[in-house]
Amino acid sequence: MRSNSGSAWASKSIADPARTGAAGAGETARQALTLARMNANSPLCLRLDSEALVSNWRALDRMSGSAACGAAVKADGYGLGAEAVVRRLTEAGCRDFFVATWAEAERLRGLAPSLSVLHGVRAGDMAAALESDARPVLCTPEQVLRWKDAGGGPCDVMVDTGMNRLGISPEDAVSGLLDGLALETLISHLACADEDSPMNAVQRARFAALAGRTPARRMSLANSCGIALGSGFHFDLVRPGIALYGGALVPALAPVVRQVVQPRAEILQRRRVAAGESVGYNAIWRAEADTEVAILNIGYADGYFRAFSNSGAAFEHGRTLPVIGRVSMDLTAIRVDAAPHLAEGDRVDIDFALMDAARQSGMSPYELLTAMGQRYSRQWSE
Ligand SMILES: *Cc1c(COP(=O)(O)O)cnc(C)c1O
Repeated sequence: MRSNSGSAWASKSIADPARTGAAGAGETARQALTLARMNANSPLCLRLDSEALVSNWRALDRMSGSAACGAAVKADGYGLGAEAVVRRLTEAGCRDFFVATWAEAERLRGLAPSLSVLHGVRAGDMAAALESDARPVLCTPEQVLRWKDAGGGPCDVMVDTGMNRLGISPEDAVSGLLDGLALETLISHLACADEDSPMNAVQRARFAALAGRTPARRMSLANSCGIALGSGFHFDLVRPGIALYGGALVPALAPVVRQVVQPRAEILQRRRVAAGESVGYNAIWRAEADTEVAILNIGYADGYFRAFSNSGAAFEHGRTLPVIGRVSMDLTAIRVDAAPHLAEGDRVDIDFALMDAARQSGMSPYELLTAMGQRYSRQWSE
């Protein structure tokens, strides 16, 4: 597995409060300055590869032929930081972005050329929705009527073609329910795009049957894996998420999807563990001989799950440094006999090649990314 050492991640992304102008006077300015310093000095870092992100989007865009290629940036851009993702993909030419909630939409105000909110409009969302630039993806007949009654503007509609998650039925979609809506995109979602399943053709056929029978200007079916199912699934717009962020869930995506996320942790303490002694909770690792051990500032609260206990690894200059013992909430031990020079304050890359990490932990790449949490400084390469 590849270690992303090198100079691409020069800490250029650290916010300079004087430049951002985010802080007001007095206390706020002092807090912003303190935060910026803490961030600059953050001992736990998520290095994010801008070029890989953009390259992944371009590859998916190419695979999608004449269909437009959007981006799902819900759950804070799958944990990478939605704002940073939207800025980079917009610059690359992406226009259509998808979030789950109105709070997520609010954080992207003014950044995304086109933004859709997948949860639609609950009654409690109406004030925010009517005032927002984002469009609701209306997903129940009640939501459709609510939006019409309020004289809401452009919207999208989710139609359920077999997943039985969100969406109005195909029958309702052609019943006249949607008449009068400023319907931008009719959307449906594939249940089994990452498998060779008969469900894919069934959903595709049900969706294609709606073409020209609703007021929709565009139609959109495919997520990341749906793109790999071929041109019959592309319609007018595709909505990849996980593949943008390094998740190649089907073989066809593996050659084009690059790793974007690289966690980097710091050694808080180096110690020699004597033969017969154990390391960590429940003493699940025991030294057969005297062993050099480093304690890292990363744990399951950072999405580095207990499944990596006694099985994960860190990298340092191409050397593999295995995780030993149980991963704790904020700490993980690695074996460093192979790296005698490593000392307190040094940093190592965590082995986090996404699909390998998913296999190894038994978790999905979606879960691994969205669990990364708030303790990392997120540093984008330029
Ligand atoms: C999350 C989501 C996507 C993106 O799916 P990936 O599998 O991450 O590519 C697309 N469409 C909808 C409706 C979604 O909820």
